Amino acid sequence: MKDTPKHQGMRNKLVETLIKKGIQDTRVLDAINKIPRHLFMDSGFVDHAYVDKAFPIAADQTISQPYTVARQTELLEVKNSDKILEIGTGSGYQTAVLLEMGALVYTIERQNELFKKTKLFLPKLGYRPKKIVFGDGYKGLPENAPFNGIIVTAGAPLVPKPLLAQLKIGGKLVIPVGEGEVQVMTVFTRTETNKFKKEEHGNYRFVPLLSDKN
Ligand code: SAH
Repeated sequence: MKDTPKHQGMRNKLVETLIKKGIQDTRVLDAINKIPRHLFMDSGFVDHAYVDKAFPIAADQTISQPYTVARQTELLEVKNSDKILEIGTGSGYQTAVLLEMGALVYTIERQNELFKKTKLFLPKLGYRPKKIVFGDGYKGLPENAPFNGIIVTAGAPLVPKPLLAQLKIGGKLVIPVGEGEVQVMTVFTRTETNKFKKEEHGNYRFVPLLSDKN
């Protein structure tokens, strides 16, 4: 499969949609404008790649809706060379957005099938995370902490303490929190060693953050 001018045209339209929905960070929009999202989806869904919707990928998981990816990334306030931890590698699309923005990305996936597939796939497009880990994101990645930012791309019934502990001072954890089908997009900023500022940014629906790996 290739990336063509037709796909680029569809991406331009998607970016216009995201701007209308309120995304302002031009670095996020530029990344979305560049990344061939259709290549991250199973071939049957290629026609849907540039509409603003979530879609199924392998292992009963989903590639997040572009608006959700854009909004979470905007809330993370990623700067060039920031060290970012992503929980829930999935298709690798969010990973690619972070890499396009110049972040050093560490990403964890608990589904072995997805982990193996995405680890092989990302470098084919030239996307090279610092680490792709098969493991349980609830634990974070203590050996590479602290991080400038941590982004959780599955719905968390609770806020994992290790993730808060692995933030730099000034770092942000962007995490959808909620026990039911709906989660509240929550941002924790570590203002001091033992102090966190909490903000809430509306409701979303994610596949659940599960514990352990399989
Ligand atoms: N960022 C992904 C979104 C994938 S959906 C993308 O852009 O495609 C959420 C992902 O989180 C799924 O792949 C799921 O398997 C994974 N996940 C769920 N619980 C997890 C955990 N405890 N640790 C790591 N990954 C987890």
